[in-house]
Amino acid sequence: MPSHIALNPPKNECRQCWLHAYDSDEQHRSLGPREDCPACVDHMLNGHGDMIVT
Ligand SMILES: [Zn+2]
Ligand SMILES: [Zn+2]
Repeated sequence: MPSHIALNPPKNECRQCWLHAYDSDEQHRSLGPREDCPACVDHMLNGHGDMIVT
């Protein structure tokens, strides 16, 4: 279960990136130790779409 902070990003933060940063162990559990998270990489390369908190 993600923490309260992980589920409540402040304004102008990306919900997904925030969650992955603050609940990293859980969100990235299926990844190998040297494996990049596809969701994080996608946001890094393509932007955050409509997931920014307004
Ligand atoms: Zn993002
Ligand atoms: Zn991630």
